[in-house]
Amino acid sequence: CGIFAYLNYNVSRERRYILEVLLNGLRRLEYRGYDSSGIAVDADLLPALSSAPYAGAAPLVYRQEGKIENLVRSVYSEVDENEVNLDAAFNVHAGIAHTRWATHGVPAPRNSHPQSSGAGDEFLVVHNGIITNYEVLKETLIRHGFTFESDTDTEVIPKLAKFVFDKAHDEEGDVTFIEVVNEVMRQLEGAYALIFKSPHYPNELIACKRGSTLILGVNELSGQKIGKSFHDVKALTANGKPKELFFSSDLCAIVEHTKNYLAIEDNEIVHIKDGSVSILKFDHDKEKPASVKRALSV
Ligand code: GLU
Repeated sequence: CGIFAYLNYNVSRERRYILEVLLNGLRRLEYRGYDSSGIAVDADLLPALSSAPYAGAAPLVYRQEGKIENLVRSVYSEVDENEVNLDAAFNVHAGIAHTRWATHGVPAPRNSHPQSSGAGDEFLVVHNGIITNYEVLKETLIRHGFTFESDTDTEVIPKLAKFVFDKAHDEEGDVTFIEVVNEVMRQLEGAYALIFKSPHYPNELIACKRGSTLILGVNELSGQKIGKSFHDVKALTANGKPKELFFSSDLCAIVEHTKNYLAIEDNEIVHIKDGSVSILKFDHDKEKPASVKRALSV
């Protein structure tokens, strides 16, 4: 019922800080209802815990039933057990998080989000909302050899992303994260806010929405004051300066970090790459979404 993401760019943040921002985001969203929760971080954020099938690439995913504090406890008990150094810092890291209020599938770790494309977690998705045509999509994906581990409507999304990614690779050799998400959106029906993370696109995040609420927060750390007037998001962020970027289902999880935010509109795709934010408009009839100018409010 709540999605959250935190990306620090060109700013040194300790492991402890990154984990706390993600877990705190979930604590703020807990009021929306929860029956389970989860996070995904890069494997090197908690190296001792990584059982990645291919070294360094697959993210680490933690999912727990019940209160957010159950998730918090399980993350930190693994940290303690493996003596992970929480002081070590990262200049760039992109993490995603979720509190779930089940619509399809009982509360259980395997039904919690992030939901995965399968082995290697090539695509991970947190979802707020309902996919109404998931049964048809699931049947098609099963015919193409996918096996499903959850009873959620959500699981079709990362699996569809992997299907699109693999197909594009076979046919064209290369495909951008935006193209993958655009094609996934073309096939989804229902209401959703989504955030995608993929080891194929390290340090990038994509979020999109139709129906459910999604807020983008931008915290410039270079001393430059954003404010007073409106600023084009792309122009503001495309500068390589240290910054923190957030996605959240609710402003209440962002305000403690920044006052600069933007409510994402239906059918917008937000892409974060190299610390720069692009906002694109999805059009069902087009293979590529068009770039749009949006202003950050204060
Ligand atoms: N429909 C999804 C599920 O049941 C997402 C529910 C939510 O918004 O938390 O897993």
